[in-house]
Amino acid sequence: MKQKKTRRMTVQAEATLEELRKLKTHPTAEELHNILRKRLPKVSLGTVYRNLKMMVREGEALRLVQPDGEARFDGCVDVHYHIRCRSCGRLDDVEMKPLTRIEPRLQEQSGWLVEGHSLEFEGICPRCLSMGGVC
Ligand SMILES: [Zn+2]
Ligand SMILES: [Zn+2]
Repeated sequence: MKQKKTRRMTVQAEATLEELRKLKTHPTAEELHNILRKRLPKVSLGTVYRNLKMMVREGEALRLVQPDGEARFDGCVDVHYHIRCRSCGRLDDVEMKPLTRIEPRLQEQSGWLVEGHSLEFEGICPRCLSMGGVC
C-alpha cells in the first residue's frame, strides 16, 4: 500500500484514512462516520465527506459509485478488482492478479492513450446464497 503524504493532515483526516484502510467492506460515508464517532465523538458527517473527497483527490482513496448512485470508499488504491452482490449490495475485493497486459494491447489496437482500467464482477454473495438466493 502506498504511504504518500503530500501535506499535513488534520487529526480527523488522519483517523478517517486509518479507519478506512482497516476496513475491507468499502463503506459509505455514513458507515465510516458511524465507526469514526466511536473514536472521535465530535466528528460530523460533513467533515467525513470533506475528508473523503480530499483523499480521493489526492489519490489516497478510491470512490466507487454503485448502480444505485451511492458512493462507497476504498482505502486501497493499488489496482484490484471488486465483486458486488446484486441482492444485498455487498462489495468485496477479488483475489486476482491485475490484468496488466491488456492496457498496452488496447493502446496499440485503438490509438488511445490508455491510463487505467477497472473491473467489477457481480453476482450473489455467500450469505445471500445461504439465505435462499436472490430476493
Ligand atoms: Zn449479498
Ligand atoms: Zn477494494
